[in-house]
Amino acid sequence: MQQSTQAPLGSVHPFPAIKPDHRLVPARIGSFASSQVAFIECPAWCTEDHMDSPSYLVDIDHTGDVCAVQVPTFMEGDDDHFWTARLEASPSSKDQRTRDAHLMVGDDQRFEARLTADDAERLADDLIAFAAQLRALARTARLHNQHVAEVAA
Ligand SMILES: [Zn+2]
Repeated sequence: MQQSTQAPLGSVHPFPAIKPDHRLVPARIGSFASSQVAFIECPAWCTEDHMDSPSYLVDIDHTGDVCAVQVPTFMEGDDDHFWTARLEASPSSKDQRTRDAHLMVGDDQRFEARLTADDAERLADDLIAFAAQLRALARTARLHNQHVAEVAA
């Protein structure tokens, strides 16, 4: 009789492998009325404290730190704006694109856009072109103002 190759392990259960670039972190699973701590796989880039407040397992999202650029205004009474971007993944989402790591790009108001890594690369190229246009507009404004000041002198 041939024995299974698993037989020598007896009652030893191998620990499931953790995905590359992931770690096990504690998470408070449940509701505010009743929760327990369980360990979940969390990507290395996630900075979310999964113990901060209880969450159902299907509602757990992974989020990274926000990077931002400030859009200042010299107009008194107007607020500066911020354009923001961060990584996010929703492992229980029905949409593969939001289950995968993706970027959340937006402003500090209401605008939010979800981008795949490819979308984000294209946006980065467009922003580089936009930055060049921004410099050209600044140069035009500076030349215009110098000309107006010379005529007035
Ligand atoms: Zn996480």
